[in-house]
Amino acid sequence: MRIAIVGCGYVGLVAAACFAELGHDVICVDNDREKIAALNNGILPIHEVFLPELVQRHRGRRLAFSDDLSSAVRDGQVVFIAVGTPQSENGEADLSYFEGAVREIAHSLQGDPKIIVEKSTVPVYTSEWIRLILAREGAEASSFEVASNPEFLREGTAVADFLYPDRIVIGADSERTCEVMRHLYEPLTSGTYPRAASALPGPASAVSPPRLIITSTKSAELIKHASNAFLAMKLSFVNSVANVCESVGADIEQVCEAVGADSRIGPRFMKPGIGYGGSCFPKDLLAFGALARAHGCELRLLDEVARINDEQRQVFLKKVRNALWTLKGKRLAALGLAFKGGTDDIRESPAVHIVNSLHREGATVVAYDPAAMDRARQALPPAISFAQAAYDAAQGADALLILTDWEEFAALDLDRLRRTLRHPIVIDGRNLYSPHLMLAKGFTYASIGRAQVSPISPPSALPARGALTPGPRPAANP
Ligand code: NAD
Repeated sequence: MRIAIVGCGYVGLVAAACFAELGHDVICVDNDREKIAALNNGILPIHEVFLPELVQRHRGRRLAFSDDLSSAVRDGQVVFIAVGTPQSENGEADLSYFEGAVREIAHSLQGDPKIIVEKSTVPVYTSEWIRLILAREGAEASSFEVASNPEFLREGTAVADFLYPDRIVIGADSERTCEVMRHLYEPLTSGTYPRAASALPGPASAVSPPRLIITSTKSAELIKHASNAFLAMKLSFVNSVANVCESVGADIEQVCEAVGADSRIGPRFMKPGIGYGGSCFPKDLLAFGALARAHGCELRLLDEVARINDEQRQVFLKKVRNALWTLKGKRLAALGLAFKGGTDDIRESPAVHIVNSLHREGATVVAYDPAAMDRARQALPPAISFAQAAYDAAQGADALLILTDWEEFAALDLDRLRRTLRHPIVIDGRNLYSPHLMLAKGFTYASIGRAQVSPISPPSALPARGALTPGPRPAANP
């Protein structure tokens, strides 16, 4: 099929490359001319595993990039809108980019009727607004249909998530639209794609074929907000339990392993840390709450989820202060700036927030991230310096802080690290190491929801901040 995708961001670009991989002809459009010029020269604006391979495989064949929305829409049978829907000041989704795209599409609806698909995360009733705006702009009712196809990919594993989804949700209000949308995903839902010799590898946990769930457009719009809200709630719940674990001397990793083994709960998203970030959970939670309020329903639970999340950054900062006493003049190595491992995205990154706070408190921060440093340089004060490797950041530092769960941060040479740091202190916001191992390697080690360990006993006059003798060895850690 011929597909136009409006928006070459994390979602649009990945969807475009993946639809081309599934055999469709795709034009991906953006109004950022520099981005399009770069893409046409084979330069990708984002870091995403497997994306370079797919773009290289299909660019100039089944995949094209353009800033000409009109001709892309004219040529397409299905038009996906994947532009940003950021948070506005009152918490609602800012749909101005989305509306802008709809207006432009309205003037290009020629030829056979098009299916206009919401790929961006948008609130309920957006499909109605699309219809209204298209009509106001003069589009014939017979020239389009509207569908919702929420995207569940995660940055860092976006390509695999798209090609090996748990489920595909299609919200459509007519049988013809359902048929066309079904056809688009047929290589996934029939299981033919994973069997192809050239198929990219999927995760071991991949469900094949994925479930195709057909709903009304309104339900599909709500499914995306409800999914993100639930996942954010799971994370804030785990972080709250982690704080209780620390207070009572339990181990959150052991607790999560056992709680997550219950099939009603599941092991995924049972990871304590410094809180969620990124361009989705924070703004989608607020947008869902605002939407519910606007329709007379209070989702107070979501306010609490967001509050716990913000507080978790303070919990981490307190650990840094507890370990170092004063911060002014201290040199701190920060490992990780992206909001999670595997991406260069720093939007709403708790790591960036923490680095900023430490800088404001007078610490000298040297940061390292495998992919997000270019973006972070634009967002952080000029006084923050950047190292080219984890050990360079650690050189002479009073403590090492782990802020993002990049795989390489879980595989540091601990002997080398201890020799590199000025003081062997590691404060791990992602629980990448076992306290037993860190103690054996001679580190003072603080993490989330587990007792701090240290080879040096603090003087008895210091207030107790968690037992210094670790509990039984957790099974699941490196
Ligand atoms: P992004 O900011 O990375 O990309 C959006 C792109 O749209 C930008 O390149 C921008 O230049 C372009 N754009 C804006 N207006 C345009 C217009 N009128 N014409 C053409 N291009 C235009 O955003 P993203 O992270 O890809 O997110 C897109 C949507 O998908 C959002 O609603 C987001 O909530 C949702 N979503 C994101 C993720 C994720 O992990 N990033 C996952 C699922 C859903």
